[in-house]
Amino acid sequence: MARYTGPLCRLCRRDNEKLFLKGDRCTTDKCSMERRKTAPGQHGLRRGKLSDYAIQLREKQKVRLAYGLLERQFRRYFKEAGKKRGITGELLLQLLELRLDNITFRLGFASNRNQARQMVNHGHFVVNGRKVNIPSYRLKAGDTVAVFEKSKTVAMFEENVSKAQHAGVPTWLQLDGASLSGKVLHVPQRDDIPLVAKEQLIVEFYSR
Ligand code: SF4
Repeated sequence: MARYTGPLCRLCRRDNEKLFLKGDRCTTDKCSMERRKTAPGQHGLRRGKLSDYAIQLREKQKVRLAYGLLERQFRRYFKEAGKKRGITGELLLQLLELRLDNITFRLGFASNRNQARQMVNHGHFVVNGRKVNIPSYRLKAGDTVAVFEKSKTVAMFEENVSKAQHAGVPTWLQLDGASLSGKVLHVPQRDDIPLVAKEQLIVEFYSR
């Protein structure tokens, strides 16, 4: 599946918000948002007042880009959330959080979602004991994710996991650093999702 391959920091500067797309670099003073907060491009210094439509659009783009999805994939998730019972915005975030690439990132196996996606593509993970190489694979409560036995020798996993243990993983997930595995304890509620977003604006955007 296609993905965005352009400059990542530009996306944060466009939305004037840190999207944490580059892993460790995002928490250092090398982060572009620390150095220049202007929007990208020749007219970046001029941030005019946004219309309601533009505010909704930016919010949708921000969440879509944070999860590394293209418009068609994102819209599909929105449609699916809209068919379920409950608050559409929250259900949308739940569906996004339950993607395999996101969960491997949240568990700390990868330092950002792009890296997680690549690791999944390369077959470094097993779900409930079976190898899965589909980044969009959806997990459910009770599912386990582990680094594939032969991949456990890759030093990067241990490095990433020790950082994650230090920083902490979300409460809806459980990480076992020693065996490089994790478990989905329950489907995340809005409070469990550490994403600064006004999901209601996304619903308004697609409901125009
Ligand atoms: Fe965004 Fe990370 Fe780049 Fe900072 S370093 S601008 S948070 S992608």
